[in-house]
Amino acid sequence: MSLPLDGIYQELILRHYRSPAHRGEMDAPDAVVMMRNPTCGDDIVLQLRVSGGVIEDVRFKGQGCAISQASASMMSGLIAGKTFAEAEPLLARFRDMIHGDAEAARDKQLGDLRALSGVARLPRRVKCAMLPWDALEEARKQLPEV
Ligand code: ZN
Repeated sequence: MSLPLDGIYQELILRHYRSPAHRGEMDAPDAVVMMRNPTCGDDIVLQLRVSGGVIEDVRFKGQGCAISQASASMMSGLIAGKTFAEAEPLLARFRDMIHGDAEAARDKQLGDLRALSGVARLPRRVKCAMLPWDALEEARKQLPEV
């Protein structure tokens, strides 16, 4: 598989794609969201365990391209242990980056997710990168108390 992205970033994306963090299922999640990106064929099931506003655990399963799966793996690692109040600005930052904001692409808070900054040059892949984040936003709506 080859992606038109910078070499070191491509390597990081493929590493998450091949050995994703937080892949799997949990018992009795507090929120579950299934989401599809039909244009690419990606799908994701995102599960969250939330207590007192803190995202205590994140699991995802599904299938799709390297960009969607790597984004899910990286996102899960970043938001696990954070509150929604902390995660939501990261979501906004990531969305800015994916839409070409160069400053967001340098933001260390996004960690490995910066490897996906090149997706801004691939408009048809933007939905792939956003899929897990869109699922996170939907999950948030299932949790009115947080
Ligand atoms: Zn995709």
